[in-house]
Amino acid sequence: RAKQRGRDTFHFFDPDLDRLLQVRHEQRQRFIDALNHEELQLYFQPQIDMRLGQVVGVEALVRWQHPEKGLLLPGQFLPHIDTSSLEIDLGEWVLTQALEQLAQWQCLGIAMPISVNISPTHLLISDFSQRLSELLARYPQISPRMLKLEVLESAAMHDIQAALQNIERCQALGVGLAIDDFGTGYSSLTHLRQLPVDLIKIDQSFVRDMLSDPNDMAIVESVIYMANRFNRPMLAEGVETLAHAKALMKLGCFLAQGFGIAKPMPANALPTWLSRWPLRADWQSLTQLP
Ligand code: C2E
Ligand code: MG
Ligand code: MG
Ligand code: MG
Repeated sequence: RAKQRGRDTFHFFDPDLDRLLQVRHEQRQRFIDALNHEELQLYFQPQIDMRLGQVVGVEALVRWQHPEKGLLLPGQFLPHIDTSSLEIDLGEWVLTQALEQLAQWQCLGIAMPISVNISPTHLLISDFSQRLSELLARYPQISPRMLKLEVLESAAMHDIQAALQNIERCQALGVGLAIDDFGTGYSSLTHLRQLPVDLIKIDQSFVRDMLSDPNDMAIVESVIYMANRFNRPMLAEGVETLAHAKALMKLGCFLAQGFGIAKPMPANALPTWLSRWPLRADWQSLTQLP
């Protein structure tokens, strides 16, 4: 029937598209099962202050322990969850897990702030802060300061007013806000001026090659310069070697996260990692740098 209407009109039935939609549907369905059957798990990656040699927090990163495919990274499944309701379900699951983890660590005497990645769609729902506040109320023993939200720079682009309002409301609850993957957006400078964020995370794609690629070095230098000019704390992602760490410190960036410090790990591996961190002589020697 579509053909009869001529070439310039819509195709009402396209077998490829139909197949694609079906695959999408199955992927979403499978993900809903995973969410309901505890196949998802949070991993945690330490964030350190290189000047003090201390751990300042951890970032929660979602993993899917797939019964057939093994451990899946977010890049392998998040792109398929392209419906806002699922993104919100996942986001609320992650927030709840993070608070649950904070409560458990508190019982063990570990006070470790957790940063959670919030998808743009989730951040922009009108009752985001209301729901967050209700969730926090279920954990009265946890200070809201122990929870931080990481928001992609692009998240704010959609609708800067709505993003601003929700960010400010979360901050009013005491929850910290970080801007993630900074430098990858179209108008980073404007965002820096408009968004009252507590931390700027320099995107790992620039940090990783900064020692070999002069363009990346230029970007890292500029971001650090800007962040300092705006008086905003900043953290470098993708710190893979001690050489990266030293270069960043020289430029004036003291917070770091990366495989050189630690890879993301399950919660039960963290206490041991924390107890060994002060013994990492190479990284601890950074505190002696002038
Ligand atoms: P992100 O928030 O920028 O997280 C940092 C990513 O960089 C993580 O990948 C981490 O494992 C990786 N990484 C850290 N240090 C290094 C390093 O030194 N070298 C290299 N090559 N990579 C490093 P991961 O866990 O695969 O997550 C990828 C992205 O998926 C995250 O980027 C974040 O945008 C998203 N994501 C992860 N967890 C969640 C979640 O719970 N909710 C949402 N909405 N997004 C999430
Ligand atoms: Mg992040
Ligand atoms: Mg990032
Ligand atoms: Mg990223």
